[in-house]
Amino acid sequence: MAAALSVQQAGNDVVLLERYRQARPAGNILNLWPPPIKALGLLGVDISDLGAPCYSEFRNVHGHKRVGIDLPQDVIRDYGGGFIGLLRPELYERLLAALPPGVLQVDRGVDSIEQGEGGVRLYMADGTIEEADVVVGADGIDSLVRRTLWGDSSTREHNLHIFGGVTYADETDVQRGLCVVSHNRKVQGSWTSIRHKGRNGFQWWVLETHDAAEEFTGDFHATATRLGADFPQPLPQLIAATDPADVQRWPIRDRKPLKQWSKGRATLVGDAAHPTSPYAAYGAGMASEDGYFLGRRLAGVDLSDYEAVRSALELFEAPRKPHTARQSQQAYILGQMFHHAPAPLQYVRDLVLDRTPLLQKVVGESSPGEILEQIDLIDLIEHDFAATLG
Ligand SMILES: Cc1cc2nc3c(=O)[nH]c(=O)nc-3n(C[C@H](O)[C@H](O)[C@H](O)COP(=O)(O)OP(=O)(O)OC[C@H]3O[C@@H](n4cnc5c(N)ncnc54)[C@H](O)[C@@H]3O)c2cc1C
Repeated sequence: MAAALSVQQAGNDVVLLERYRQARPAGNILNLWPPPIKALGLLGVDISDLGAPCYSEFRNVHGHKRVGIDLPQDVIRDYGGGFIGLLRPELYERLLAALPPGVLQVDRGVDSIEQGEGGVRLYMADGTIEEADVVVGADGIDSLVRRTLWGDSSTREHNLHIFGGVTYADETDVQRGLCVVSHNRKVQGSWTSIRHKGRNGFQWWVLETHDAAEEFTGDFHATATRLGADFPQPLPQLIAATDPADVQRWPIRDRKPLKQWSKGRATLVGDAAHPTSPYAAYGAGMASEDGYFLGRRLAGVDLSDYEAVRSALELFEAPRKPHTARQSQQAYILGQMFHHAPAPLQYVRDLVLDRTPLLQKVVGESSPGEILEQIDLIDLIEHDFAATLG
């Protein structure tokens, strides 16, 4: 939806083809960093009172702080806080409200794609054919567009699963404006403030190893309660306050970063380009940024001109690849380090994380650096975009 908004703002006709009968999110919990919030605002999405601004910390299971994500005050002021806690349905509703009528076509699965120098043909599940100058694969981790361009690749199973839930229970003793990511030897137990449609609440998640080849048959809420029991309050109390119907589970997987995204008149954005583990808490954020940058790069480009399209897509992906690959690789490595370290190394790992600034350097300093870089890039591109539009 972000890509459609940006490409449309650049003066192009856009059709957004969704295979399901409704465009709706597959999950609930979500946090967004300032760059996607900024990009969405520029795309005309209503970002007022969107989510709860949170300061983020990594802690050990005893509550000892290991990392603080310290963003400059002006960024916190301008974009409503460091890390925004919200729920997906509200973001979807706001994106949908920003889309011009007719752009989104639901119940329109794409079966296959063919392209030549003159254009792209999309063969639809309903037997019809769509023709376009450019196709953007925003079709998620199992992307058909990615497969068509670059062949099949196996998913990278992290052998982890995550349980997440939401509660609006009146937990007046719980500090608001905070996101706490905690680890014991094997489990991550985390919680954050949220704001959803004007209501304050909390979301939480617990994450442990799970063999991806094995079906999970346990009870989600009971498993989350067991995993959260080791952690300090408020995590156990937030899990207890959550309606079991509001608990969801996801196995964690991604794919290794691609060397190239675009080919001819086709490109990729979001999970189609860089499927990212929730350890990054940035997959949806990067998808929104991708969409924003893609539209800006296509501004002023004659889409009938094959070479012009190719070079615009190349310019789009060049700066996106290192940023997104770093995020998805770091997320994979953090998952391995926190959950798959052999037992004898776990003690040493935790000693290093508790007593040295290693994690602060790897996560606490690199994340704000990447965030500020994206904000600066958006400023730069927005300036060029305004000049292109005259
Ligand atoms: C538990 C969990 C927590 C997460 N937390 C965060 C977080 O805090 N912050 C964050 O930024 N990210 C988070 N993420 C990651 C984020 O959810 C994903 O990165 C994001 O949803 C990717 O968006 P996308 O639009 O690229 O793909 P998707 O959301 O997968 O959307 C792809 C769309 O394409 C449609 N589609 C697919 N194939 C076809 C076809 N052939 N024809 C037509 N339509 C098709 C699908 O139906 C779908 O609507 C989390 C992920 C999980 C699992």
